[in-house]
Amino acid sequence: MRDASVGSAGSSGDIVDVDCLVVGAGVGGALLGLLLGRRGQRVVVVEASPSLRTGGADFLKPRGLRLIRDHGLMADLRSRGSLERSVIDFYHDGTPILLYDFTEHTETGHFVIVPYVETVGAILSGCKDLPNVDVRFGSRVVDIVATDEAVTEAMLDDGTKLRARTFVDSTGRSPLHAFVDPRVKALAPYPHVLRMATTKLTSSVAERNRLYFSSDGWFAYFYPLTYDSARLFVGVPRELDASVFESRDIDLTSHLESFVSDSRDVFPLIDAGAFLRAPISAFTCEQYHRGNVILMGGGAFACHPMTGQGMSYTMEDATILAGILAENDSGNLSRALGERYETRRSLHAELVSYGDRLARSYHDREAYQRVHHAGRHGGEL
Ligand SMILES: Cc1cc2nc3c(=O)[nH]c(=O)nc-3n(C[C@H](O)[C@H](O)[C@H](O)COP(=O)(O)OP(=O)(O)OC[C@H]3O[C@@H](n4cnc5c(N)ncnc54)[C@H](O)[C@@H]3O)c2cc1C
Repeated sequence: MRDASVGSAGSSGDIVDVDCLVVGAGVGGALLGLLLGRRGQRVVVVEASPSLRTGGADFLKPRGLRLIRDHGLMADLRSRGSLERSVIDFYHDGTPILLYDFTEHTETGHFVIVPYVETVGAILSGCKDLPNVDVRFGSRVVDIVATDEAVTEAMLDDGTKLRARTFVDSTGRSPLHAFVDPRVKALAPYPHVLRMATTKLTSSVAERNRLYFSSDGWFAYFYPLTYDSARLFVGVPRELDASVFESRDIDLTSHLESFVSDSRDVFPLIDAGAFLRAPISAFTCEQYHRGNVILMGGGAFACHPMTGQGMSYTMEDATILAGILAENDSGNLSRALGERYETRRSLHAELVSYGDRLARSYHDREAYQRVHHAGRHGGEL
């Protein structure tokens, strides 16, 4: 019988044989590692960061929540202080334009706010009981050995050689991604820059999630992150970003006062210097696999962050992929991926396009209301 433990191999020059090498321990890579591990597969997950990465992906919408529940991770997530919310209020130039109620539009009736680091932490804590799953922080793939049809070996930066039946890239940044040659189609850059900060929770933020747009191309989204902290996202026209956040020639609070109407208790807490730039990219790929190398999550697609569903779709992809890879049917891998995984591309493209149309309509009240789609917004489509 095959020894399912990956063991403690990994110092320079070691050769490690596994079923699957996953690059990136974000929400997708971590979940894939966990699900394959539960099915007895030997998995190595390599993560470039030395520790769990923080980030602005705080929303789990119904599709993601169902998977968290189905994979038995809900109790852990709750113990990490996740917040259930049901309503988001939308404003344009200070006037309410839309109240989105998850109890009306979704089966779960709510979404969850939880810091990204806690979502990934909950998934990875499930891996701790699995000796056949080895998650390596501060590690990356630097080279691969490949034929035309397949990758046979990946070399890590500490010299470890990993032989695997399948390789999954969830980063878009490893040599595995280049091997797939996925023909990335990037969407045109957005006219705004996104910044985020964390402050003390105020009563208006505790009360409701409020998302404000202005006709001059600004937006602001305030919501509780934990029981005592609030997340503030601010979008500003690209050409003003440096004046607002670097030279501070434009006063952030004064400008927010012109279109943020029901969250005024946040203004005294606003410090332009505390806002970090949040990456925005939107792209799709024309193919998700080549031979035994597969792209997933951030290696395969990205939607505008304000769509709030990239994690949910990625968790679905990890679940489907785990089912295919655990079948151990190398002869049938390409067909299974073609039939059950590559088909995800059209769903991703719809999500990316929806987020893109929304993000380009923020300044225009009527256009935004036309694009906003109740089913898609709640994540039920
Ligand atoms: C500001 C912002 C807000 C967002 N908000 C939401 C939200 O509220 N809800 C939602 O569902 N989605 C949200 N998203 C989208 C969501 O973050 C992604 O869709 C999701 O994280 C993709 O998961 P992933 O595991 O594939 O990639 P990631 O979460 O990006 O994880 C990839 C991991 O790989 C690591 N890595 C990178 N390069 C390498 C390398 N060369 N070698 C090894 N490891 C590497 C990274 O450190 C990271 O840990 C947001 C995105 C942004 C940018």
